[in-house]
Amino acid sequence: MGFGWWSWIIPLDNGEVSAGVTWDERLFTPPEGADMAERVKKHLLKHPVGRVMFGNAEAVPNDNRYYKGLPYYSEKIAGDGWTVVGDAGGFMDPLYSQGLDFCSHTVYNSFSLIRKHYMGECVQEEFDVKNAAYVKSYFDWFNAIYKDKYWYMGDAELMFVAFLLDISTYFIGPVRLVYSNQDLEFGKMPYSGFAGDVFARFMRFYNRRLVTLAKKKIKAGKFGDKNLNHHFITKNAFTPGNPTLKLMFKGIRIWLKCELQYMFTSPASAEREPSPTTPMPSVASMTAAPVPKTP
Ligand SMILES: Cc1cc2nc3c(=O)[nH]c(=O)nc-3n(C[C@H](O)[C@H](O)[C@H](O)COP(=O)(O)OP(=O)(O)OC[C@H]3O[C@@H](n4cnc5c(N)ncnc54)[C@H](O)[C@@H]3O)c2cc1C
Repeated sequence: MGFGWWSWIIPLDNGEVSAGVTWDERLFTPPEGADMAERVKKHLLKHPVGRVMFGNAEAVPNDNRYYKGLPYYSEKIAGDGWTVVGDAGGFMDPLYSQGLDFCSHTVYNSFSLIRKHYMGECVQEEFDVKNAAYVKSYFDWFNAIYKDKYWYMGDAELMFVAFLLDISTYFIGPVRLVYSNQDLEFGKMPYSGFAGDVFARFMRFYNRRLVTLAKKKIKAGKFGDKNLNHHFITKNAFTPGNPTLKLMFKGIRIWLKCELQYMFTSPASAEREPSPTTPMPSVASMTAAPVPKTP
């Protein structure tokens, strides 16, 4: 992950590895190359870990794709005699791997409609409700999690805050609700109702603040200042219960600390890139991890 981009690296059953880059073209352009496979490889090799993993990698011929402007959504996901499920309804960004969760909701929405229909109930009135709920949920997620997020990718401190807050709010909200009442909650879209709305607004707010903080850090020459020799790890796992609140408060604490630190810094203008420090570490600047003492 770096300023304006992130990469996925997924080992497949057959020994091949799916690797790719997702980027915000306002902020980042991958290196030039004959095709996208070459461009992705050149890009991955810039990173010390990428060099270790892909130094000798060969691209599978004719197995690379490039999609521009991939996110999309449908204004209607159900009507008389039809419904839409999964990615046919919309797609956002695979950063948090929420695709199949979103699919579960649209599949269950369709199932509930079909079940109602075959139980002899009228479902006509539900179409408008379902269609409006889908679009609202899509934009709640987008504004809360992805809007301008690529501004703070590459800064470990801000991404750690986002990681703690995005995932804890997801577990305290949609995941906990689905665990408590599958039939009811899978039949709705995430972030529906009053509580969902409050959470979505809170998430949209801190996401906007993290974007502003990234611009402030760029202006101050501090973007990526904690990428090296700092540990950003959590001891506790995310669960749909109360312990996750601790992780959420940890995220809020680090966020507010950053707000205080950059209170008097004005944000960089939209065009300015974070050149003063490097969010992509070079091997030379890494400190070797201490070797544990053997007893
Ligand atoms: C890089 C990346 C990483 C992801 N990682 C995760 C992850 O870790 N976890 C997660 O939950 N989600 C992840 N997702 C999202 C997830 O893959 C999708 O949400 C999910 O696959 C959607 O399932 P689907 O059945 O709706 O669509 P698809 O999986 O796209 O299936 C649709 C199928 O229909 C076929 N098709 C299309 N047109 C026709 C036609 N005319 N006739 C017949 N067949 C047709 C297609 O070939 C395809 O096989 C990721 C997505 C991407 C792009």
